[in-house]
Amino acid sequence: PEWTGLRVRNTFFEFFRDKGHTVVPSSSVVPHNDPTLLFTNAGMNQFKPIFLGTIASTDDLAKLKRAVDTQKCIRAGGKHNDLDDVGKDSYHHTFFEMLGNWSFGDYFKKEAIEWSWELLTKVFGLDPARLYVTYFEGNPEMNLEPDLEAKELWKSVGVPEDHILPGNMKDNFWEMGATGPCGPCSEIHYDKIGGGRNAAHLVNADDPMVVEVWNNVFMQFDRQEDKSLKTLPAKHIDTGMGYERLVSALQNKDSNYATDIFTPLFDRIQEVTGARPYTDKYGKDDVDGIDTAYRVVADHIRLLTFAISDGAAPNNEGRGYVVRRVLRRGVRYARKYFNAEIGSFFSSILPALVEQMGEQFPEIVKHQQDVKELLDEEEEAFSRTLDRGEKQFEKYAAEALNNGTKKLSGADVWRLYDTFGFPEDLTKLMAEERGLSMDETEIAEAREKAREASKAVKESSQTFAKLNVHQISELKDKLQLPPPDDEPKF
Ligand code: ATP
Ligand code: MG
Ligand code: MG
Ligand code: MG
Repeated sequence: PEWTGLRVRNTFFEFFRDKGHTVVPSSSVVPHNDPTLLFTNAGMNQFKPIFLGTIASTDDLAKLKRAVDTQKCIRAGGKHNDLDDVGKDSYHHTFFEMLGNWSFGDYFKKEAIEWSWELLTKVFGLDPARLYVTYFEGNPEMNLEPDLEAKELWKSVGVPEDHILPGNMKDNFWEMGATGPCGPCSEIHYDKIGGGRNAAHLVNADDPMVVEVWNNVFMQFDRQEDKSLKTLPAKHIDTGMGYERLVSALQNKDSNYATDIFTPLFDRIQEVTGARPYTDKYGKDDVDGIDTAYRVVADHIRLLTFAISDGAAPNNEGRGYVVRRVLRRGVRYARKYFNAEIGSFFSSILPALVEQMGEQFPEIVKHQQDVKELLDEEEEAFSRTLDRGEKQFEKYAAEALNNGTKKLSGADVWRLYDTFGFPEDLTKLMAEERGLSMDETEIAEAREKAREASKAVKESSQTFAKLNVHQISELKDKLQLPPPDDEPKF
C-alpha cells in the first residue's frame, strides 16, 4: 500500500518535528510509578507529573515544551476496558499504539486544531467530506461551559457546520481514570463509506464504518477523590490518535485488521495452524468463527508480548491477572477454532510480531526469550485443566438449557474459575456462544461466599494450630456438633 504502517508513523513524527516538537519514546505499558493505573491506557500517562505540576526539575521531560510520540497502550481492565469487544469489532484492540502531539503549557487549542486538520487533509490526504468533528457541549451540573471556542476554530479551518457536532461528558470530556488530569476534548471521526452521504448521526454511535480517529484533549483540570475538579497550574494539549485506525483509513480498509499491521500476524497464524486464510468477516458473517479467532489471537499476542516485555508477568492479581486472562482467552480460541496444540502456540506466533514491531520497540527483541518462556509455561499450566474445564462447562451449559433458565448460575461460574482456572470473561464468551446468560450479582455472591468460607477455614485452622490436644478435645465438646442424623443428606 502507498501508506504503509511504517510510513504513516514516520510521517506523523516528521510533521510535528517540523513544528518544533521533540520525538520522545513511548513509556512502558506497565505504569511502574502510578498506583492509580492498571496499564498505560493513553499517551498522557507518562506526562501526568508535568500536567499536575509535580515533575522534578531534574527530570528529562521537565524541559519539554512540545513533544511527539507513539505510546503503547493497553485497554483491558481498568476505566478504559475494551477486552470484551476484541474479536467482535473492527476497531478496538486490547493493545494499540496511540500517536500524540503535546504542548506543555505552550500552544493551545488554535494550533492543535489547525495542525490536526492540516495533517489529516493536506499531508495524509483524507477527504474532508468524510471527516466529522465534535466539541464539548458543556455540563451545568459540573459548572462546565460549552467549548464554543473549539467549535469556532473548526469553522475557521473550513469544516462545514453540519460536520461539527456537540458531544456529552462521556464522549467529549476526557478522563484518565477515577482521579487525575482531565479536560474537554474535541474529536475527529472518519466516515469509511463517504460518497456524499451525511454520516453525522453515525458519529459516536458504535458504527464500524464511522470511526473515531483522533482525540484532542484540552487539559485543564485534575479530578479529585471527592469528584470535584481542581484547575491545573497551566493549560496543555494532549492528543491521541489511534494508529491502527488511521492506517486503516489511509489504506482504504473497512477494518484495522485488514491493514499491513495485522497481515503478517495472520499469515503466521495460518502457517502454524494450517487454517483457511483470514477474510475479515464479523458476527454472523463469520460463519465458522475462524476470522474472529484470527483477530483474538493476533490482538492477544500483541498485548502479551508488550505486557510481559515491560514486566507484567501472568499471575493471580491485578495486572498479572489481566495478562493471564488474556492468554487463557486466546488459548481457548486457538484450540477451539484452529485445533492448535496448546503448550507453545502463542510463542510460535511471536517471531512474526518481533520481526514486524521490533524496530520501533526494541524491548520486544531484547525480551523475546523471556516472553517465549513465560508464555509456554503459562500455556502449559492452563492446558492441564482446559480439557476438564471445558467438559465441566458443557455439563453446566446442558443443565442450564435443560432446566429452561438459559442462565449459567453464579456458583457454576465460580467453580469454573476456582477449580479449572477459567477467568470469568472466558466463561462469559463460552456462555454467549451457547446463548446462555450470566448474572453479575450472582457471581459476586458466589465469590463472596467462597471468600468467607476460605477465611473461616483459615481462622479455625489457625486457632487449632495454637491449641494442645486437651484443649482441642475440650473445644470439640463445647462445639456441640449436631447428632449425625441431622446432617444434610446428598
Ligand atoms: P472509542 O470511543 O472508539 O472507544 P475512545 O473515545 O475510548 O475510543 P480515547 O480515549 O479518546 O478513545 O483515545 C484516543 C484515541 O485512541 C481514539 O480516538 C482512538 O483512535 C484510539 N483508541 C481508543 N481505544 C482504542 C482501542 N481499544 N483500540 C484501538 N484504538 C483505540
Ligand atoms: Mg473507548
Ligand atoms: Mg470515544
Ligand atoms: Mg475518545
